[in-house]
Parts: sequence; C-alpha cells; structure tokens
Amino acid sequence: MNIIIFGAPGAGKGTQSDLLAKNFSLKKISTGDLLREEINNKSDLGKKIKDLIEKGQLVSDEIIIDLIENIFKDQNKNFNFVFDGFPRTLKQAEILEKKLKNYNEKIDFVFNLEVNRDEIIKRISGRIFCTKCNKIFNNHFNSPLSSEHKCGDSYLKKRADDTVEVVEKRYDTYIKQTAPLIKFYIEANNLHTVSGLSSINEIFGQITSLIKQ
Ligand SMILES: [Zn+2]
Repeated sequence: MNIIIFGAPGAGKGTQSDLLAKNFSLKKISTGDLLREEINNKSDLGKKIKDLIEKGQLVSDEIIIDLIENIFKDQNKNFNFVFDGFPRTLKQAEILEKKLKNYNEKIDFVFNLEVNRDEIIKRISGRIFCTKCNKIFNNHFNSPLSSEHKCGDSYLKKRADDTVEVVEKRYDTYIKQTAPLIKFYIEANNLHTVSGLSSINEIFGQITSLIKQ
C-alpha cells in the first residue's frame, strides 16, 4: 500500500504520516530526510545537493526523483510507502506514477489534511519554545504560563521565522504549489480530504476508516 499525505506547514502532516508508518508498517519517505541522508553519505550527489542548498537554490525534480528511484530499486517488490512532502510539483507526481508503474505499483490513497489559513497562522505564529528544556508551547492553545512548565519565562523564545508574515507567505505558497497536485489526484480518483481541525486521534481514526473501507 502506498500513501501520499498533503498538508500545509502546521497542519499536522508529520504526526499523521508517523502514525500511518507505525500502524500500517509503511516506510516513511520525506524529501527532507532523503536529502539530509544523501548529504550525510557524502556521495557525489550528496555534495551536489549540499552545494545547492547552501547557495539557497532549489533541488531539482530530477535529483529528487533519482533519490526516490534508488529507494524503489532496493525494495525488492515490497512497496509500502507513505510519502510526506512529496510529490511537491505536478512533474514529480507524473514521474512518480510512471516509476511506480514500472514496478506494477500505484498510489492507493492520497490524504489532503485541510486546515484553514487563520488556524495555521494561529498555530504557528503562537508557537514558542523553551531554550532550556526544548519543550514547544503555543500562546493560543498551550501557554507555557498556564502549564506546569518550571524553567521560567526568561528561557522562552520564538523561532525567527514563526512570524505572522512569514507563516502567511509560507501558507500561500503551499496552497499555490499544491493546487495542481490536488487536481491531479482528484482526477486520478484517489484523493480524500480530511479536516485537520480535530484531535490527532480523531484525524487518524478518519484516515484509518478510509483505508479500511
Ligand atoms: Zn523549559
């Protein structure tokens, strides 16, 4: 079984893909992890990727597809993946479909974890973390002041890019980038939209029941 999960930054996509991986014995493929792994391997490709990232350039569709193809080659017909943050472009989606077809495989489910813009902004712009114990809080939902956090206010800090402006921009870019992909999977007839506003367990319950239908 192969699954793709879409969701804006802050929608809870990482949590749900971890749950899917654990409960359905799937291997999680996240583009970020793949890139980091290749860089750590210090391969020629890894060096090229490191160079691109350091220059602030985007890693091309071709490179990402090559990394995915390497994993497919090693699978030995055991295709059970959850793709997190991939495909990111229509081209990647089309190539992914072709590559899977070569192994007589397909994408079985695509879940679109939907959370509206205002909620995402609240979730991320309210985020605050403690530099002493590394716990993450949220001024809107889980205030460090009302919880049993003992380190003291002086350790609380916001990530520099968790501002409303940056979050808005990130969300809008995500929606713009994902729209053609959503359309592609609606046409392929395997897109399921799930509200990301419920609790982690409720969302996972919904996803599970869609899989088991
Ligand atoms: Zn703390």
